[in-house]
Amino acid sequence: MIASATDIAKAVRTKECSAKEVAAQCLARIESTDGNTHAFLRISGEKAIERARQVDEAIARGEDPGPLAGVPIAVKDNICTVGGTTTCGSKILEKFESRYDAHVAQRLQAAGAVIVGKTNLDEFGMGSSTENTATATTCNPWNASRVAGGSSGGSAAAVAARMVPAAIGSDTGGSIRQPASFCSVVGLKGTYGRVSRYGLVAYGSSLDQIGPLAVEARDVALLMGVIAGHDRRDSTSVDAEVPDYVAGLDDPLDGLRIGISEEYLGEGLDEEVRGCVMAAIENLKTRGASVVPIHLPHMNYAIACYYVIVTAEASSNLARFDGVHYGHRTPEPKDMIDMYASSRGEGFGAEVKRRIMLGTYALSSGYYDAYYLKALKVRTLIRRDFEEAFQSVDAIASPVAPTPAFTIGEKTEDPLAMYLSDIYTISANLAGICAISVPCGFSGAGLPIGLQLMGPAFGEGKLLSVAHQYQQATDHHEQVPPASSTD
Ligand code: GLN
Repeated sequence: MIASATDIAKAVRTKECSAKEVAAQCLARIESTDGNTHAFLRISGEKAIERARQVDEAIARGEDPGPLAGVPIAVKDNICTVGGTTTCGSKILEKFESRYDAHVAQRLQAAGAVIVGKTNLDEFGMGSSTENTATATTCNPWNASRVAGGSSGGSAAAVAARMVPAAIGSDTGGSIRQPASFCSVVGLKGTYGRVSRYGLVAYGSSLDQIGPLAVEARDVALLMGVIAGHDRRDSTSVDAEVPDYVAGLDDPLDGLRIGISEEYLGEGLDEEVRGCVMAAIENLKTRGASVVPIHLPHMNYAIACYYVIVTAEASSNLARFDGVHYGHRTPEPKDMIDMYASSRGEGFGAEVKRRIMLGTYALSSGYYDAYYLKALKVRTLIRRDFEEAFQSVDAIASPVAPTPAFTIGEKTEDPLAMYLSDIYTISANLAGICAISVPCGFSGAGLPIGLQLMGPAFGEGKLLSVAHQYQQATDHHEQVPPASSTD
């Protein structure tokens, strides 16, 4: 069984074990476990062993390889890494090889981490189930007939099945938090601008954020400390000091004010999810927190607002995949227009095409004011709702998703039903604030349930300490899914 990132880094730094041994064990674990889960799109075994060897050599020379010394990490396949493909789960990028590492990949490696492979996702991050992928659907390690969530389903499943101690995902509308919740791991979406998006293949640029997933909040804090911080190559990356997230984990929660809003606990919420979330809030009360009712009046417009903005941005971002600059080109086009149309027609999946069309429509002359501009205005109202709420509370608690993991295939024919599974997560992206998902129980059918905690901009430290102290008092995260308990 794979140990935590914190424990691995400590053992490697103190030479209790070598990075190479850890990498080999991790690769063997992926090999024996991923056949049924399909969390990985690519495993970079040789490169990982070579990288681990370099970490061991640095240690032998007396150098400090960094806080993630020898920690195996899986990276979502919409984040560029050198050596091997970055496919975004799309046929159009099937053979695309990046010439550079994303900022997060550079940071992780500079901190001694060993990237072991790239994980499955909904094509370009568009989806909530990792079913919209050019390859196999990722199964939920807790129940193979259920989805792992999405779009970072591969990253969440790989961590949940104990194939890797930690993984990196991206979150545009909930894609770290929702799969984390479905798979019983912790996932953090930082404040917009906290982590550089350099090398993340853009989906909705004003919403996208990269973040870590791990079994324990402590490991998430460790990784966040490594990947957060200013990068001049992403003009939206914020030049604000990165606190020592690990050092702050045990800061007392006395006086913590937790907001709860009816808008997040109303119609459509599964009773078992409600029960677990309310029990988690009760638990935090025993730790010194108080609960304050709040009102977020514009939340009902969040889904509509998000799907106008995100599709508009996606239609523009995905224009670069034209068969010329990147990716698939149709073999025998009749003329140039046919080359564009056929390359894109053959390369993109159905959901991506739907979104490009919706976004193009929302941005087109005559509709721009009615849809896109209107959505931007609603976004401002949603942001203000949060600013107002954070005047009187330190964090807002809610479910992550309205239900536990749904059955594979259940929502594939009904895009709107799929979109609704993001109802509690997308507002944090629209407002640019931070939010974390932490395991808070299981349904009667044994499916994981997550608690979401949202915090004001740059409030990651507080969310991590609440999540950590909650985990110290509970054992939900210690349960291991059946798919991984065989060794
Ligand atoms: N499910 C949402 C969407 O399809 C969010 C995806 C994400 O966060 N990447 O857009």
